[in-house]
Amino acid sequence: MTAEKTRDPYPFEKSFDQKSLEFDQRQYMKNNTILLGIHVLLIIPYLFLSPKHMTVVNIFSILFYVLGFGLLKKSRRFIVIYSYMILAEILLHDIFCVLIFGWKCGFQLWIISLVCTYIKDYITPERSEHERNVYAAIIVITGFLTFTALYLITEYVNIPIQDPPSDKVTTAFVLMNAFITFSGIVAFTGIYTRQMEYKYTELHQQADFDQLTGLGNRYYMNDLLREEEKNSDSVSGYSVAMIDIDHFKAVNDTYGHHNGDIVLKDIADIMSEILPVNVSPGRWGGEEFLIVSDRDITYPEFQAILEDLRNRVSSHIFILENNVNIHCTISIGAAGYEEGHSIQEIIKKADDNLYEAKRTGRNRLVA
Ligand code: GH3
Ligand code: MG
Ligand code: MG
Repeated sequence: MTAEKTRDPYPFEKSFDQKSLEFDQRQYMKNNTILLGIHVLLIIPYLFLSPKHMTVVNIFSILFYVLGFGLLKKSRRFIVIYSYMILAEILLHDIFCVLIFGWKCGFQLWIISLVCTYIKDYITPERSEHERNVYAAIIVITGFLTFTALYLITEYVNIPIQDPPSDKVTTAFVLMNAFITFSGIVAFTGIYTRQMEYKYTELHQQADFDQLTGLGNRYYMNDLLREEEKNSDSVSGYSVAMIDIDHFKAVNDTYGHHNGDIVLKDIADIMSEILPVNVSPGRWGGEEFLIVSDRDITYPEFQAILEDLRNRVSSHIFILENNVNIHCTISIGAAGYEEGHSIQEIIKKADDNLYEAKRTGRNRLVA
């Protein structure tokens, strides 16, 4: 296998895009199957109740969903267009039901659940307050006007295709439609909440974690430091280590920035692999990492862990593109908590020790 095939320097970035696309596709494929199934089942009552009209409308609906599978396999843009086509299909089918079966059967109730889907798509946090108000007004007015128009037409206009069922069937229909409407509202609200939850997780990941390495970013590490400072006292406290890759500029200059990224990612992976749970690594800046251990780890224990890390990195073979193998080392400056010293002071001490490690030959720990 080539190095290219075995490596994926941007797993974080990719997994998000793919996940959301797969999520959309899977979701719509499932919805499409359910909707097709419903229309296939509808053949039976439609044949029984209104052989002339709804059966014909239903054939078009079935065809629409069969062709829909083809559209869903295309790009994301088609998925968005298709979702609107589904809404149009449901609305049209529903309008025909109201016109043919009459107002009393309650098919107009479906418009209420359809309005929910519009609220979900148009009244979103990305839009301004003004836009949201305008959309809300448009949705209320169109929903209400459609409802009113259907009422007036069914009550006062002589519709030649109208074919109302018996009283018993009418009762069954109105109960079924009320049930479908309530379920629809609950389902749409559920989908909306799930999408928001997904968005929240994505934003949370972007805000706290570094995209390339998947480690906590500087913002996250600062939070962690404040937390650890609160938990520290005169008996025991947190420790920090500042890590910098040796001659990293040369790696970039010789093998390219992309290969430099592979080295960064590999070092981050080694840290995640060997550091205990109460020792957290993060990306502090460009090619600098910060490690924070909590008060349960003594400073001598922390130094041993760092020595182990340094050894692991120096013996690691970094496999770059085209199977080029290189070695890299890191320099580490550590500092332990001292009562009365601020986070900045302790970081500064670790930084000074890192500078000392660089000055005295690199690939070493100064604590
Ligand atoms: P020293 O041993 O003294 O640390 O030498 P050095 O070459 O590592 O130090 P220097 O600060 O001169 O170089 C750091 C380099 O890190 C320069 C910059 O291009 C590179 N770098 C910073 N962030 C990234 C990154 O995200 N990806 C890559 N590929 N390179 C980065
Ligand atoms: Mg540096
Ligand atoms: Mg460096």
